[in-house]
Amino acid sequence: MRVTGVMVQYYVACKRELWFFANQINMNYDNDDISIGRHIHEKSFSREKKNVNLGDVSFDFVKTGEKNTIFEIKKSSKLEEPVRYQLYYYLWNAKKLGKEADGVLVYPKEKKREKLTLTPEKEHEIEHIIKDIEKIVSQPLPPPVVIKPYCKRCTYYELCMV
Ligand code: SF4
Repeated sequence: MRVTGVMVQYYVACKRELWFFANQINMNYDNDDISIGRHIHEKSFSREKKNVNLGDVSFDFVKTGEKNTIFEIKKSSKLEEPVRYQLYYYLWNAKKLGKEADGVLVYPKEKKREKLTLTPEKEHEIEHIIKDIEKIVSQPLPPPVVIKPYCKRCTYYELCMV
């Protein structure tokens, strides 16, 4: 199975959402959040390199300096922890391909940035998460609903709340 950064993000945010997404249960993706996110992405770093592919995953942006830096640009920091793990996953992938990098999470609307470094503990966690994602996604039914603050903004809200 090809694990993506978004799947890692969903794993940390909601394992049920991960299951729906990975099993191609698509709800209405034509929502404002996605188009706003795309707009921010296009406006940010407009003169720099972006959408870089490295192995199986693609990153928002990579700048090559003394050490590579992988940027992940987000609309808001509401999903801060899941997004951190998405970026740790990219850093882990980069390291596997011999391109060690630090990560920077960028929230342009909030004028906020956070630098992330892949530690041996995080590497170990990412390896555990990948195995667990494969297990969850291959289950015949989705994990149960666990109500969270962001359920109301989730694309699967109606499906979970019936
Ligand atoms: S509505 Fe809540 S429980 Fe259901 S998939 Fe979304 S985040 Fe998970």
